[in-house]
Amino acid sequence: MKLIFEISEEGKRCATIRKPQIKSAKLNEKYLRKTELDLPEVSEVDFSRHYTALSRRAFGVDNGFYPLGSCTMKYNPKINEEVAGLEGFTRIHPLQSEKTVQGCMEVMHTLSSYLAEITGMDAVTLQPNAGAHGEYTGLCLIAAYHAARKDFKRTKVIVPDSAHGTNPASAVMAGFEIINVPSDEEKGVDLEALKKVVGDDTAALMLTNPTTLGLFEKNIKEISKIIHKAGGLLYYDGANLNAVMGVVRPGDMGFDVVHLNLHKTFSTPHGGGGPGSGPVGCKKELAAFLPDPRVEKTDKGYKFVESKQSIGKVASFYGNFGVYVRALAYIVALGAEGIKAAAQHAVLNANYLKVNIEDLYPTEKGRHCMHEFVVSMQELKDKTGVSAMEIAKTMIDRGYHPPTMYFPLIIHEALMFEPTETETKQTLDEVIKALREIYEEAFKDPEYMKSAPHHAQIGRPDEVKAARTPVVRYQK
Ligand SMILES: *Cc1c(COP(=O)(O)O)cnc(C)c1O
Repeated sequence: MKLIFEISEEGKRCATIRKPQIKSAKLNEKYLRKTELDLPEVSEVDFSRHYTALSRRAFGVDNGFYPLGSCTMKYNPKINEEVAGLEGFTRIHPLQSEKTVQGCMEVMHTLSSYLAEITGMDAVTLQPNAGAHGEYTGLCLIAAYHAARKDFKRTKVIVPDSAHGTNPASAVMAGFEIINVPSDEEKGVDLEALKKVVGDDTAALMLTNPTTLGLFEKNIKEISKIIHKAGGLLYYDGANLNAVMGVVRPGDMGFDVVHLNLHKTFSTPHGGGGPGSGPVGCKKELAAFLPDPRVEKTDKGYKFVESKQSIGKVASFYGNFGVYVRALAYIVALGAEGIKAAAQHAVLNANYLKVNIEDLYPTEKGRHCMHEFVVSMQELKDKTGVSAMEIAKTMIDRGYHPPTMYFPLIIHEALMFEPTETETKQTLDEVIKALREIYEEAFKDPEYMKSAPHHAQIGRPDEVKAARTPVVRYQK
């Protein structure tokens, strides 16, 4: 496909600009450009076709099944886009005075209180712009809490090996040292190993639940006891709340801090880097440290308030406001019953897919999964040479987005499926059939699979190079 610069032809126009009615002013020489502005020149129809063609080359939830584990690529109701696009929400400026944005402040206040209710926490900040950003913010709260008590020894954060990869990274960013704990045979946190590393230098333990294996951590109560007894705090990575919302609450399980991913669970389309939102909830003992400002409800309306002990701002202005509107619209539309039903269906769909392929795609035996599950293709690779990657690439040829590959690292040749609650049984049945056929194909024609995809726009790019040295600027 040609770039828009390559279809450009001098003199072509999408629009004509009226001759200015006002006199031109002289600008200081130093503000004038030295070279011509090199913009593509195309007709309106070519412009429209170009971008429509580009959009067709992208894969999204609106074009097909997208079981990218850990990412919750569920269908996002279009009405939430319309709500977020209402003029009262889009045609405002963050520097407007409080009394002119009371409606927007009500959105933030109401959403915070709903999220506090859903997570079982006392206070919530909406500011962080992503899940990992929420983790960082939550860990800064934990650091501030210990510092305020003059408990300066607490420099270590315990991270189980089934945690999401962002957890140790965020803890290091927040200035902590990481202590790893292994999983036990049941793929939960190894309690004996945990007891050995806990001490008066423990700042917190970060738990991803469900774990990256899609399993509910069985020993939560014991973990909670061990950490709290040692004076540490408990951090809940709630990016996968889609599996448990409306059913259990991190606050009730003993957690002190939690982050959520509104762009996964609460209806903001994501991928390609944004926009996101990773609100953080905490217990009242930590509320004074939350980022400034927070919205408070008073007799005279909504007010921005600040706290002396706050860790400060973590995002510009108030975070990604449009994402809040979508989340609130989603929560209000579903209600308490609907939120719970969404989680239950997410778990049901994942288990349905799992039991119908696990004779060929082996997974954690004998356990129900939560909203996602991980299979290991090591045996297939040993027998046929076809790897998890080749299965993923073959799925592209079938019109499906591949599952997450080679994650978590504790499973060899891992594929991680998260079908989400918004897929129908018909779709799941088609996917099951396709996956079973792909498995057979690995024995019949492994070489063909090793060069898949055969029908995609791009086959096998150098992914590292594409990520590290992307060419994003047109050069003649
Ligand atoms: C997605 C995810 C994150 C990170 O969220 P981002 O918004 O991508 O920063 C953290 N933890 C878990 C368990 C996740 O699934």
